[in-house]
Amino acid sequence: MKIAIIGGGIGGMTLALSLHDAGLHDVDVYESDARVRELGVGINVQPHAVRELTELGLQDQLAAVAIPTAELAYYSTHGQRIWGEPRGLAAGYRWPQFSIHRGELVLILYRAVIERLGEDRVHTGYHLSAFGQAGSRMWADFIDRASGEANGRIEADLLIGCDGVHSVVRQSLYPDEGPPKWNGVTMWRGITRGKPFLAGRTMIMAGHFARRVVAYPISRQMEERGEALLNWVSELKTAGDQPMPRQDWQHKATIEDAVRPFEKFKFDFLDVPAMIRSADAVYQYPMVDRDPLPTWNGFEMGRGAVTLLGDAAHPMYPVGSNGASQAILDARVLARELATQSTVEEAVTAYDAERRPATAAVVAANRKVGPEQCMQIVEKRAPHGFTNLDDIISMQELEEISRAYKLTAGFDPATLNSRASHSVRRSVEPSVKPEN
Ligand SMILES: Cc1cc2nc3c(=O)[nH]c(=O)nc-3n(C[C@H](O)[C@H](O)[C@H](O)COP(=O)(O)OP(=O)(O)OC[C@H]3O[C@@H](n4cnc5c(N)ncnc54)[C@H](O)[C@@H]3O)c2cc1C
Repeated sequence: MKIAIIGGGIGGMTLALSLHDAGLHDVDVYESDARVRELGVGINVQPHAVRELTELGLQDQLAAVAIPTAELAYYSTHGQRIWGEPRGLAAGYRWPQFSIHRGELVLILYRAVIERLGEDRVHTGYHLSAFGQAGSRMWADFIDRASGEANGRIEADLLIGCDGVHSVVRQSLYPDEGPPKWNGVTMWRGITRGKPFLAGRTMIMAGHFARRVVAYPISRQMEERGEALLNWVSELKTAGDQPMPRQDWQHKATIEDAVRPFEKFKFDFLDVPAMIRSADAVYQYPMVDRDPLPTWNGFEMGRGAVTLLGDAAHPMYPVGSNGASQAILDARVLARELATQSTVEEAVTAYDAERRPATAAVVAANRKVGPEQCMQIVEKRAPHGFTNLDDIISMQELEEISRAYKLTAGFDPATLNSRASHSVRRSVEPSVKPEN
């Protein structure tokens, strides 16, 4: 069975590795960019996704560069601590949580794909322009986006759109959907060389949904030198909910735009304005998501063997640090189903039935600010600060907010530690057959 993965981001690369691991070796990745580069700033990979990457044999490589996050803490606009909880191994998970540069994560995955599947399986400079059915198979046309020249047509038994928030595959399946939905929040992202703060491996959030800062260290090498490579995001709600014109992850902004709304965020544990002012570069991006879809199953839509994965399937607000983790889970479940069901249609149907509702719940939870509800509540009840936190929000309420989000997003420690693995190891090509 020939499988074409459209998009070589975190979802696409993890899918290639997972399929290979499950015994499906005829897999090609088509990536729009001319080469796989270390783009982006920091992201979090939660224990449910680190488990999957560990089962793919990548934990040592991740641990060599990433920070195993040990604590997550929420603060008010005034820098008063609202809630802190252990994360990763410190929280009793069998797998760590990693804070890592997105580019380094993509490179680890890419190198593993090259090593295991072969260099000729990753086709860079291949931007999908159209696809369709040809009898029982699928075809896909590509262009070189830099030159605009056609790059040829391929055929495959299954096409998987891992092509991100502006997915061409999704647009073709849902032509009337329009652009992603912007909630009016502008995010500025950057990386600053600084000093460790609080417990060193702490991720903090301060403020509330309309004016929020997130900061955490992402480099093991810097930590070993007693320093910290701080990934930060500053966010400000500047408009109402509306469609957002296309903008890409490399859109640069001025440092002053990012720092202006946060001049008062000078806390005793972190001087936020100073951190932002010392960044190498600042990138600006609107906070967008999309409504959950009624199906990701091309068979059900009369479009044949095509489906969606990762941000192409379920872009979500980055409030619970789950976008990349959910893409990794999608990849593992789809590979498992393709290796164990008897037809591609059955596999895509089972994948859709499991992952679509699960990720729709995370999209919905993130719209209600997910685990960060505690910051909203404190801002609403005590906008000028508090003397005694218990008078503002009870410990029980705080615990429930944290517990409920983990259950929704699939990383409640007890469930994750005890659930069966998604790994399917086969020495021979599994029996799954292309459609007739
Ligand atoms: C350049 C970049 C930087 C990012 N930086 C951050 C960050 O700093 N912090 C953060 O939290 N999240 C970041 N993200 C998003 C984050 O990586 C994703 O939310 C998450 O990992 C989901 O991964 P994905 O593979 O589904 O989508 P993505 O990571 O978006 O990957 C999609 C891939 O598909 C490729 N592609 C797009 N269209 C086509 C096409 N028509 N044909 C072929 N290939 C196509 C893209 O070039 C990309 O490599 C970034 C994404 C990108 C693409």
